[in-house]
Amino acid sequence: MDYRKKFLVEPGAKVRLSKIDASYTGEHETHEKALPENQAHVERMDKLQYLLYADGNQSLLVVLQALDAAGKDGVIRHVFSGMNPQGTSVFGFKHPSKEEADHDFLWRAHLRAPGKGEVVVFNRSHYEDVLVVRVHKLVPRSVWSKRYEQINAFETTLSRAGTTILKFFLHISPEEQLARFKQRLDDPSRHWKISESDYSERKLWPQYVEAYETAMALTSTKRAPWYVIPANHKWFRNLAVSQIIADTMDEMGLKLPPTRVNLPDIRRKYHAAEQSKTRVGKRSLK
Ligand code: AMP
Ligand code: MG
Repeated sequence: MDYRKKFLVEPGAKVRLSKIDASYTGEHETHEKALPENQAHVERMDKLQYLLYADGNQSLLVVLQALDAAGKDGVIRHVFSGMNPQGTSVFGFKHPSKEEADHDFLWRAHLRAPGKGEVVVFNRSHYEDVLVVRVHKLVPRSVWSKRYEQINAFETTLSRAGTTILKFFLHISPEEQLARFKQRLDDPSRHWKISESDYSERKLWPQYVEAYETAMALTSTKRAPWYVIPANHKWFRNLAVSQIIADTMDEMGLKLPPTRVNLPDIRRKYHAAEQSKTRVGKRSLK
């Protein structure tokens, strides 16, 4: 199954989250059965990241958005764990700092966008400025309603500069979210993750759904597509995200750069002595 086709938000299309089954697992029955495929995608991603870094001409930006406990942290841990930290980074978008709030809303996103050869994951992103900001009415409608266009222009700028952009919405049901909050409550090692606002935000679920549906409909483009990932099952979420990332990187035309030196020359100049020394060494051992 090609999840790039299945979970894509078609540019210009309406999104109805209530019509998308958050528990979907496709033909995969269990975590155990899906594991080899999942591992294969993650390994492909890791090899392609090596090429992206070596090639040094393009970059990858992965945007993760979701309601609380939908698994953004889990995707980062499981899907990106094999990538080389040299060339990969994660940036978490929190409530804006004083300095961030003193700039336009895209400033902090632009600052963290990947440079050539890099993979950057946004844990939340510039989309918060049309999501939490819209739901909580932190700025007037006249301000946030113009941001979709600004976001599209920003992402076009990144894309034209060689950045491939993938945007994932991790889709969970309210029941699954509550079950995950309860698991956190029962696990002392995860108590630090609990905040009361997680619970109070649940009351705003329909408003968040509306804000996400609008954002995805207005900003899913060919250059920067949105994918809605069924995320009630963590293993399926990881499988779908890793397949989409690996398939996309596969099509980036990444290759090792040409050798910049004369290899036989280098061998002769700098390794010849070493080779003869080893030969001598071996001989003297006899
Ligand atoms: P967490 O992802 O759990 O660390 O929480 C980060 C919090 O920062 C979330 O509640 C976000 O909604 C909030 N946040 C992120 N960006 C913004 C923003 N631009 N304006 C207001 N709140 C934000
Ligand atoms: Mg949180």
